[in-house]
Amino acid sequence: MSLLDVRTIWAEPASLASMRGQEVLARFPGAEVVEVDSHWAIPDLHGDAAKVSRWVRVKAENLVLGEKKSLTVRPNGRSADFIAPSGANGCAMACAYCYVPRRKGYANPITVFTNIDGIARAVSRHLARTGPKTEPNQCDPRDWVYDLGENSDCSVDALVSDNVADLVRHVAGLEGAKASFATKYVNRDLLALDPRGRTRVRFSLMPREDAQLLDLRTSSIDERIDAVDDFLAADYEVHLNFSPVVLRERWQSRWAALLDELGERLSPAARAQAACEVILLTHNEGLHEVNLGWHPRAEDVLWRPEAQEPKRSQNGQENVRYRVDVKRRAVARFRELVAVHAPWLPIRYAF
Ligand code: SF4
Repeated sequence: MSLLDVRTIWAEPASLASMRGQEVLARFPGAEVVEVDSHWAIPDLHGDAAKVSRWVRVKAENLVLGEKKSLTVRPNGRSADFIAPSGANGCAMACAYCYVPRRKGYANPITVFTNIDGIARAVSRHLARTGPKTEPNQCDPRDWVYDLGENSDCSVDALVSDNVADLVRHVAGLEGAKASFATKYVNRDLLALDPRGRTRVRFSLMPREDAQLLDLRTSSIDERIDAVDDFLAADYEVHLNFSPVVLRERWQSRWAALLDELGERLSPAARAQAACEVILLTHNEGLHEVNLGWHPRAEDVLWRPEAQEPKRSQNGQENVRYRVDVKRRAVARFRELVAVHAPWLPIRYAF
């Protein structure tokens, strides 16, 4: 099934009337348009329990157009210094562990936020207020890093609208700022943009055995590895996002093999500028229940109550994570694996 086979576009009236909204409609001329009061509350889409079994199809067949109401830039300090207001929310891919749908009930196709100029201005204003970065940190030695893709995958968003292209171009002209997003999809259209070294793509990688079970509808691990040098040549910075690390049988040998492979396949130039982030799995009881309705095999490795405990996340959600002792040992072991199998690769953070 193709990633996008858009049949219905649910749209707030103001978004529909906007230039960005009209551009999106023009990309999917056969789609039926249904006006909705709010992109957040579409009972026929988000609240319909019967749709769990059609989880993937719903993501392919639906788009939502809305306006991003809150244009605040939030501090982060891990993947990036700050989280920019999202240009989109939701995703057409269907990773079984994805936290993005956790607030939206039963389906979470892409919502495109059409007030992209306001989002870009919010980043500029925040940068002006913040002033230059004076001390290096793990996010970046020089620039303030703004994450563009907390609630979506920007590479797929770029198939739907020019929001990502606009933000990459915008940040390319902002001295002292850098855009960043993690991705599991290779969109080669992004190679034609001119990021001027001011966008960091973090290709998300995991052992193939995990990806085949958990990363549904994404680009293959081989495609993502192949893309690293191409994006570097197109003037992106390219880092690696190792997430989620799922603790299951043979996880250590599988990650070791992937790290060895990266050393063999990435060019010296790619290795010289790379860094990685390592994020162990968090999960969520509600998502566990949803997954049992459409992809129960994934839950055999994601839902491990004997090794997990409740956790309140930065964003206020009640999740589960590996128990503190389990996690501490695993993070230490992962660091050892990188030191032995990819000594060229700095770890920006691991948790
Ligand atoms: S690519 Fe990212 S946003 Fe999309 S389903 Fe996977 S984890 Fe979620």
